[in-house]
Amino acid sequence: MKVAVFGARGKVGTVMAAALSKAGHEVVGIDLGDPVALEGCDAAVDFTQPDAVAGNVAACVAAGIPCVIGTTGFDRDEVEREAIAAGVPVFHAPNFAIGAVLMMRFAEEAHLHLPAAEIVELHADTKRDAPSGTSLATAARMGGDVPIHSVRLPGLVAHQEVILGGPGETLTIRHDTSSREAFVPGVLMAARRVRDLPPGLTLGLEALL
Ligand code: NAP
Repeated sequence: MKVAVFGARGKVGTVMAAALSKAGHEVVGIDLGDPVALEGCDAAVDFTQPDAVAGNVAACVAAGIPCVIGTTGFDRDEVEREAIAAGVPVFHAPNFAIGAVLMMRFAEEAHLHLPAAEIVELHADTKRDAPSGTSLATAARMGGDVPIHSVRLPGLVAHQEVILGGPGETLTIRHDTSSREAFVPGVLMAARRVRDLPPGLTLGLEALL
């Protein structure tokens, strides 16, 4: 496939562009200020920043190109409207790491038995949005009313703890991303399969598993 990567010079985009090439795809890297050259692309991948997503998706769906969005903190309603109006599939996972998907699933189940819970999400100080997309998705799966604490420090990659408390006990479910390679299998799968999804916005890696 020919795949456009928005944000190809960013921290995640660099890893994804290399992984897509290694998997045999032709990569068109598009960074801030580059021409948006989408001719002949079969899919696009976006790892940019929240306020860039709607414009990038608009350019893709106008050309009939399905999109995989990895960027978090963007306006989902706007992107969903764009995708539906164009009749093109768009996919977003707040976290492409399989361990993070399992963490969310286990947290949802644990919360049924231990209703008092809080989330601590920890990321590199360069992350622009807070709370993280993963923590918001986790809280939503736990019923919505779960406090989230955000930590931004150099030296961190992406980490989250869901701490549940009951009389005389706590349960901590923790996921750590030690390298951006963790997101590669999920992004490759989404890039391959996005064109088969229904038109509009599909959310969460679970939808592809
Ligand atoms: P980053 O290093 O800041 O990279 C973002 C890149 O996008 C930069 O090179 C930036 O260029 C470029 N960019 C900004 N606006 C653009 C536009 N309109 N068109 C094309 N490129 C543009 O950030 P990162 O650490 O790679 O993270 C990127 C996003 O992915 C964040 O939202 C982060 O939360 C998210 N993320 C998601 C997952 C997941 O599993 N879903 C995992 C990790 C990260 P400049 O530097 O010139 O501005």
